[in-house]
Amino acid sequence: MITSKPVCVTGASGFIAAYIVRDLLREGYRVRGTVRKSAENYPFLLNLPGAEERLELVKADLLQANAYDRAVEGCDYVIHTASPYEINVKNPQEDLVDPAVNGTESILQSCMKSGGVKRVVFTSSIAAITDEPESSKVFTEKDWNTMSSLDRHPYQYSKTLAERAAWDFIMQKKPAFDLVVINPFMVVGPSLGPSLNTTNQIIRDIMTGVYPGIMDINWGFVDVRDVAKAHLLAMSNGAASGRYLCSGDAMHMRDLVALLKSSGFRKYALPKLDLSGKAGTLLMKLLSFTQPKDTGTYIRTNVGRTFRYDNAKIRRELGISFMDIKQSIIETVEDMVKWGHLPKR
Ligand code: NAP
Repeated sequence: MITSKPVCVTGASGFIAAYIVRDLLREGYRVRGTVRKSAENYPFLLNLPGAEERLELVKADLLQANAYDRAVEGCDYVIHTASPYEINVKNPQEDLVDPAVNGTESILQSCMKSGGVKRVVFTSSIAAITDEPESSKVFTEKDWNTMSSLDRHPYQYSKTLAERAAWDFIMQKKPAFDLVVINPFMVVGPSLGPSLNTTNQIIRDIMTGVYPGIMDINWGFVDVRDVAKAHLLAMSNGAASGRYLCSGDAMHMRDLVALLKSSGFRKYALPKLDLSGKAGTLLMKLLSFTQPKDTGTYIRTNVGRTFRYDNAKIRRELGISFMDIKQSIIETVEDMVKWGHLPKR
């Protein structure tokens, strides 16, 4: 049943959150989104159908104490997506870990103070499950990333610590609300706003000659619209619980490049050289030392291995059936051209 109380969505300006806001408005909810600048900076949110009557944007920063008290006041549900999603930052502790972890604790504290919150849905990541594929292992919600640190995959570290902090809060403080966590893999799809998301940027890089060749690497992809749907179901389905690994099909870089070539994008600087054999993997690992730190670590821990994961829990318990990822990738590229992130060719 739709409540007349607002649903709080933190980081409403984000790639994923904008779709969560759109879908909540579509379903008739009132929405209170938190943003960092004043409301007029977000016309793509203010112009969503239903926004004029039912969307309120309030300012809040993850690094400010008690910043979310007002935002969660009177809410049954809080969807916490805000967290810095960046790689190769200057100061991993200050730029990633502090906002991710302190922000999560601060929001949960605000929810507890408010007294009325029934459920918090938290956007975690595959990053909190693992930061590297392991031969023949199939990852599930039972797995935790124990390898990342400030030095090794600091973004993945920030997500792991933030999700841990959220579960610890529930265990230790025993609040009146429960916690449901969504762990998406690489989120792609068209964007409601003008920013270029870090994951879509990887596809742009593949199309603009950033990669010297086709590497032996695969990724789990999930469309942003499915990720938003998963958040709404995690919120409204009373039986939802625990973590949900949220990813559609995995795709090898070779198949991704072939898809782009056969979908009308062959004029872009797509990688041609096949570096997906053993010698290519060795070369990529050597070249990784010439890359920015996080990119280099990523290549050394991911190239030459195959990611395997099981998305059965989210399909079974939340009833999600994932969109065709090929269609989603094509729409991502078309959308990047539309926003001017990629030139027309
Ligand atoms: P995004 O577009 O960069 O959104 C991040 C959001 O967090 C933005 O609204 C941003 O606000 C906000 N934020 C960052 N630092 C903040 C701070 N100090 N105080 C308040 N808000 C802050 O990225 P996204 O992909 O939608 O990510 C949303 C969530 O999904 C994140 O938790 C991310 O870790 C997770 N996730 C993303 C992917 C993916 O592939 N995209 C995969 C797995 C998990 P501004 O607009 O003001 O910068």
